[in-house]
Amino acid sequence: MLNSKELQKVRTYFPFFNVSTSSDPITYLDNAATTQKLAVVMNCLIRLWTEGSANVHRSSHSLANQLTESFEQARDTVAHFINANDCSEVIWTTGVTEGINLVANSWGERHIQAGDQILISAMEHHANMLPWQQLCERKGALLKIIPVLDNAEVDLNAFDELLNHNVKMVAITHVSNVLGTINPIKQIVDKCQQYHCKVLVDGAQAIAHLPVDVQALNCDFYVFSGHKCFAPESTGVLYGKKAELASMPPWKTGGEMVKSVSLEKVEFQEPPFRFEAGTPNVSGLIALAEALEFLSNLDRDSLRQHEQYLTALLKRQLTSIDGVVNHSQAKHQSSIVAFSVKGCSALDIAALLDEQNIAVRSGQLCAMPLVNGINPAGLVRVSLAFYNSEDEVIKFIVALKQSIELLRE
Ligand code: PMP
Repeated sequence: MLNSKELQKVRTYFPFFNVSTSSDPITYLDNAATTQKLAVVMNCLIRLWTEGSANVHRSSHSLANQLTESFEQARDTVAHFINANDCSEVIWTTGVTEGINLVANSWGERHIQAGDQILISAMEHHANMLPWQQLCERKGALLKIIPVLDNAEVDLNAFDELLNHNVKMVAITHVSNVLGTINPIKQIVDKCQQYHCKVLVDGAQAIAHLPVDVQALNCDFYVFSGHKCFAPESTGVLYGKKAELASMPPWKTGGEMVKSVSLEKVEFQEPPFRFEAGTPNVSGLIALAEALEFLSNLDRDSLRQHEQYLTALLKRQLTSIDGVVNHSQAKHQSSIVAFSVKGCSALDIAALLDEQNIAVRSGQLCAMPLVNGINPAGLVRVSLAFYNSEDEVIKFIVALKQSIELLRE
C-alpha cells in the first residue's frame, strides 16, 4: 500500500483533489464509470488550444504539419504502451463502444456468414453484447453465451464445450465492469487459436489497472477508452492485428480516409487511416497519449498493490455488515466490488451515500442480463482507483452502515 506521503503525491497529479475548498470533499468511488483527469491532460489541452488549432493530415501549413506530427507521435506512444507490433495497428476511436461497433460492422461484414457462431460471456457490458447481437441478426449467425459461475468467474469448461470450428469470434471483457473479475485472456486466446477463431478483448476496465501487452495476450483486437484512464472523454483506441485490419473494409466513410475518389469510385487508404473518416478529436487523442506516457513513468506495480490493498480492506469490511452480500468473489480480481443488501434497494443506498458526498454507481450497470441474474433489483458498485485512500474506504463503510440502518428503520 502507498504510505500517506506517497498517496498525497499521487493525488497532486489530479487537480480534482486539490481545488476543493469544501471541508467535506467528494469521496469518488465510481472509477469504473469514469476517472478523474490528470493535470498533464488538462495542461496538454490548454497548450494545444493556446498554441493554435489545425486539422491533421489535411492542410500543409506549418501549424497543421506540427499537429499532424504530434498526432502520429501520440499513436506511437499508444502502440508502445500496449506493446503493439506496429503503430498502424492503433486506430483512433471515440471509445470502447465505437471500437467494438467498428469491428462488429467491418470485420463482421467481411467474415461472418449465416450459420457462423459468435461467443460472448454472460458478464459483458452492453457495448460488447449489442453490436454482436445486431451482427448475428443481420447475418443469420448464432450468438452463444459463455456462462458465469457463482464464484464470479467465466465457466471455462462450458467455454471448451462451446468452442467449435463454426465459432468465428470470441468477444470477452478483460475485467468485468460489474464483478471486477479478471478473465484469463491468454488462456482463452490459446484455445481459440486451435479453432482459428478470432478474439476481441474489451479492455475498458483493464487499461488503468493492469499492464496490457497485446502481443503477449496474442488477441486479434483490443479496445479501450481514454476516459477510463484519466484522459478525455470521447477518446479511445482499437488495436487490431495488422493482417486482420488489412482484411477489413471501412465502416464509416468520408474525409481523409481515401487514396483517390472519382464521382463513381473510391480507393481507400491502408489501415489505420481507412478507419478514421472525418476530423478526429485531435487534442483529446494527443492528451490521451500524454496520460498513458505519464502512467508508464509511474511505479504501476505499487499503484496496483495499493488498489489491491484497498479492495481487500473494502471486501473485509463489507462482509462484517449484516445483510450485505458481496458478489465479487473471483480469485483474480480488479478494484471493482459489487454488492447487494438484503431488504434495501441499491438505488436508495446510492442516494443516501450521495447525501454524504460519496459517489458510487448502482442499478443494472450496463450489464442487464448479468445483474438481473444476480439481483433483479440492481447492485451497488464501488470502483477504486490508485488515488483512493484507506480513509475514503472507511468513510464509505461508515456511511453505508448508517444508510442501511436508516433504510431498515
Ligand atoms: N465495456 C466495459 C467493460 C465498460 O465498463 C464500459 C464503460 N462502462 C464500456 C465497455 C463502454 O465504454 P465507453 O462508454 O467508454 O465506450
